Amino acid sequence: MINRVNELKEILNKASKAYYDNDKPIMEDYEYDMLMNELIKIENENPELKTIDSPTIRLGGEVLSKFEKVTHTAKMMSLSDAFSYDELRDFDKRVKNVASNATYLCELKIDGLSVALRYEKGLLNLAATRGNGSVGENITHNVKTIKTVPLKLDSPLTIEVRGEIFMPKASFKALNLEREANEEEIFANCRNAAAGSVRQLDSKVAAKRNLDVFLYYYLGQEVKTQEESLIEMKNLGFKVNQLYSHCNTIDDVITYIDSIGKERDSLPYDIDGIVIKVNEMEFHDLIGETVKYPKWAIAYKFPPEEVSTKLLDITYQVGRTGVITPVANFKPVFVQGSMISKATLHNEDYIKEKDIHINDTVIIRKAGDVIPEVVKPILEERNNDCIEFKMISNCPCCGSNLVRALGEADYYCLNPNCEDKLVNKLIHFASKPAYDIDSLGERVCEQLYQLGFIKNIADIFKLNNYYNELILLPKFGEKSIDNLIQAIEKSKENNLDRLIFGLGIRHCGAKISKLLCKKFKNIDNLMNATFENIISIGDIGEAIAKEFTQYMQNEDNIALINELKDLGLKMEYDMGEIKENYFTNKKCVLTGTLESMGRTEAKKLIEGFGGALSDSVSKKTDILILGANPGSKYDKAKKLGIYIMEEAEFLQRIKE
Ligand code: NAD
Repeated sequence: MINRVNELKEILNKASKAYYDNDKPIMEDYEYDMLMNELIKIENENPELKTIDSPTIRLGGEVLSKFEKVTHTAKMMSLSDAFSYDELRDFDKRVKNVASNATYLCELKIDGLSVALRYEKGLLNLAATRGNGSVGENITHNVKTIKTVPLKLDSPLTIEVRGEIFMPKASFKALNLEREANEEEIFANCRNAAAGSVRQLDSKVAAKRNLDVFLYYYLGQEVKTQEESLIEMKNLGFKVNQLYSHCNTIDDVITYIDSIGKERDSLPYDIDGIVIKVNEMEFHDLIGETVKYPKWAIAYKFPPEEVSTKLLDITYQVGRTGVITPVANFKPVFVQGSMISKATLHNEDYIKEKDIHINDTVIIRKAGDVIPEVVKPILEERNNDCIEFKMISNCPCCGSNLVRALGEADYYCLNPNCEDKLVNKLIHFASKPAYDIDSLGERVCEQLYQLGFIKNIADIFKLNNYYNELILLPKFGEKSIDNLIQAIEKSKENNLDRLIFGLGIRHCGAKISKLLCKKFKNIDNLMNATFENIISIGDIGEAIAKEFTQYMQNEDNIALINELKDLGLKMEYDMGEIKENYFTNKKCVLTGTLESMGRTEAKKLIEGFGGALSDSVSKKTDILILGANPGSKYDKAKKLGIYIMEEAEFLQRIKE
């Protein structure tokens, strides 16, 4: 028994460190929760085995030394878990034993990281992570960049509120796309992305990540119920999730959980359960708490939705670099709101490690609630029809021999004329993070390639020569071809880094392309740059420098670039780039008169940071800048819940 306890402690501590301190989980939450439950059970049955360093007592992660430490005014606790309705009914019995009249307030359990916000005389002066519950990390600089966190309250109150910082699903998807383009590691889920963004020293990173917040605790205030405290916080201007429900009985709680469970996928943010809190504050002290969590609340955790289905086949995709990706094709199944029939199997090693055979019954789920994943085969159901996986040795598209690069798990097709590679190169070139040609999406690229209109990148810019033929194509028509041609023409003005990234040079992501362009300034310098020149930049390693110089020395590539030059694409890097700050990508509206500057100057400043200043307030407006004698825009912005920024803050933000 002691051996198992030690083993569990070791696994849980390791997972906890990866999850809290490094924001990189090494196991699924459910797996972690089940191991934790096992340890709790053993410790309850054998109290002599419970030590003070047990993960069942310890809360959260370490306080990283890179941040200033903050001692919490009151301990920031965790929540005990329930994984079944029976466990919820047990919780209800425990509560009712002490407080027979208790009712419940159910709230969404937002999957992010908790934050404490302290206001002094109405001004935000501290934001801290939970840390180990008693001491957290000072993350004020990052939290100030979250536009739904009020920097100033209408009344000069000295208060503390607590809530959850999270990353909306749409921002998470966009961030991972960008990271993929930059060849950076992608985040496993919204929670890790939010935590990783908040625990950055440089607030510019957090500012760009579109974080958001919901507040759910109002500390030490004279409110009678949890519901009242939510209403009070909302009135003070805090963002409070409105999907809460006041339930009189545990049956009502279960009905609410069922209904939210059905809506869960359509919510714009991730939730991992429902928090059930005794609504009446007077009962909280009576019911009490443990060292780790209050006994008057519990978190019902949604089970991970895993389904089993038959793996029908493993097919292969050829990427733009020639990388071959095996893909699982299974009998379509419904998982968390959508029908899926395919999932990447990454590479040969991955499949062998998981011991996946064709015709196996396999378990499928959505990793991070988004990307379909084959979890494992059900070995007990394996029979004679199941065929052991064998990696192909020839390209599924052109048939040429595949090569496994030394030290890599991937196989590559090296044929430069392989059609799948060519089409994927075009798709990559036109994609948003690269040359960003509107109207030239994946399907259009494929069609135009198959019809012979575009065979390489240069052909895209010659499409206007085929206008009369193109408008006759089924499913296109004059209007869409006009749009396409216009979008292509407009794209020629794109900055040079987009072109470099679009060329699809191995290891040369969006960030590296920008770095190279900043250093070498125009295409001729880039083409002539030597391995040593590139290495001397500092942030670029040997592998990239080698790939880049090889690409630029290849005759076909030189011919392509020269052709693109002749076709009028911009070949200089525009250094007059936008300086990024709080206003980057924000839509602002100004109302009233600013004391310090006129409208034109304010507009210039905002635009200089890549923001926009428009005339009217709409749902899309991010910030209303408030001058003296504001007009009706002010009322409209308040009604729409748009962030109102006073002149002093505007000047402060401009300076940052
Ligand atoms: P928790 O996430 O289970 O629940 C407590 C937290 O819920 C609170 O601290 C708060 O931040 C949050 N919360 C969200 N909405 C809330 C609301 N409306 N009201 C109150 N609180 C709300 O507990 P935890 O201690 O933060 O983390 C433990 C959990 O983290 C584990 O159960 C596990 O799922 C996960 N974990 C996973 C790994 C891993 O390796 N995958 C490792 C460690 C922890």
